[in-house]
Amino acid sequence: MVAPEIDGGAWLDPLGRLFSPAPAGYTFPLDASSHRCESSRMEIRFVGSGDAFGSGGRYQTCIRLQENGYTTLVDCGATSLTAMKAQHLDPGEVDAVVLTHLHGDHFGGLPFLVLDGQFSRRTKPLTVLGPVGTTNRLHAVMEAFYPGSTSVQRRFNVEIVELDGVGSPHSTGALTVRSWEVDHASGAPALAVRAQLGGATFAYSGDTAWTPALITAAEGSDVFVCEAYTYDTPVRYHLDYATLREHADELATRQLVVTHMGPSMLSRLDALEHTAASDGLALGT
Ligand SMILES: [Zn+2]
Ligand SMILES: [Zn+2]
Repeated sequence: MVAPEIDGGAWLDPLGRLFSPAPAGYTFPLDASSHRCESSRMEIRFVGSGDAFGSGGRYQTCIRLQENGYTTLVDCGATSLTAMKAQHLDPGEVDAVVLTHLHGDHFGGLPFLVLDGQFSRRTKPLTVLGPVGTTNRLHAVMEAFYPGSTSVQRRFNVEIVELDGVGSPHSTGALTVRSWEVDHASGAPALAVRAQLGGATFAYSGDTAWTPALITAAEGSDVFVCEAYTYDTPVRYHLDYATLREHADELATRQLVVTHMGPSMLSRLDALEHTAASDGLALGT
């Protein structure tokens, strides 16, 4: 079955919100109660909203936050550089990359982002904030993909910050990130993250089974993006939509958006009670 959003047509969800792959530069209001001053507007764009396996032809996880000229990627899956260029987004704008965990569909695009910067003569520093182990895993994956790439002298610095997973704030530029450890095996701690940029707050589950850490991460957020890999089939270390729906009232967010959807979710988009991410979807705070 072809999922309705893949046709490119817009439609309203059961709560009357508009769904559509967003045209470049267009932002949707979050909901009817969303009235924020201009200074706090942050654009949240799903550069990639897919699972690890390209379900529905979607790009792997990459969510771009932009506010007042500061640009952050939350996760950078292996397809993310291609996704950015397909959506006419400049990889050279990216100031920081926040990684929830060290699976290829969430951080495998970083070597390409770094090498693209090298070959485009980037000078702007890049900060990578990820779980403990990010320094070693990024080094290993760069050497595996492009031997010698870690010893090249570049015009820009890549600073890696390893997050503690216990909620401490870490600031870089205009961005403040907090992280909480979740339940997902990836050879390093997996994190849910909350990112503040300007006056807006974005939170994201990463990949995880249900855990109370999601309640903490989502608290007070303008948007909480949560994985919903399957519709109602339990899958170890992941969330199914039925479980998420049971806990939705515990999530103190202004808007819950589901992403990282596999085939069973993509075939039931019309049955969802929450906003479903799609590649190119942009939300404004
Ligand atoms: Zn994933
Ligand atoms: Zn994962």
